[in-house]
Amino acid sequence: MSEILAMLTAKTTSFTPTGGGGEITPQMVASACSGLSHYEWLFVTCKLAIDTNGAGYLRILALQRTQQFAENRGWRVSKKEPPNLLAKLSDMALDSALKNNLCFDCRGTKVNSHGRVCSTCGGSGLAPPPSQASRARIAGVSIESWNRRWKKRFAVLVAEYEVMEAHASSHINRQLESANDN
Ligand SMILES: [Zn+2]
Repeated sequence: MSEILAMLTAKTTSFTPTGGGGEITPQMVASACSGLSHYEWLFVTCKLAIDTNGAGYLRILALQRTQQFAENRGWRVSKKEPPNLLAKLSDMALDSALKNNLCFDCRGTKVNSHGRVCSTCGGSGLAPPPSQASRARIAGVSIESWNRRWKKRFAVLVAEYEVMEAHASSHINRQLESANDN
């Protein structure tokens, strides 16, 4: 997915309306998305910023999935925990999967304005993930409860998005390649 995003981002900075070999446009990616499930389609079009109109609906569907997961796996919210904990967990996992985690300083270019390795991200181009303490705070649970129970559950949700993203990426790449062959 990140390669597709990089191609699209490159496109917006040096846009040539005629197009050419190897170039992709948001329209091409959008049509390559046909055949994905509705949920995957919403996720991909939001992630690649091709169409963000479905973002609110995606969030609702994501919560339904999280609730289904919780039910299947027996994740219980205790009386001491906030009643909207699952919604918070769901939102955090979706946000983590949707955002591209680029370093806010170099914006993913890995170098600073002098062309040297960006010191903020150490040249990874990525922003550091939020700390477990800040995740616990957002979820509204104690750090002990986060570390004992919810951290693993959050990781399960994030891993689900990774699987879905990998599936969607290979689908899109296949579609783009076959469109190129025609
Ligand atoms: Zn950086």
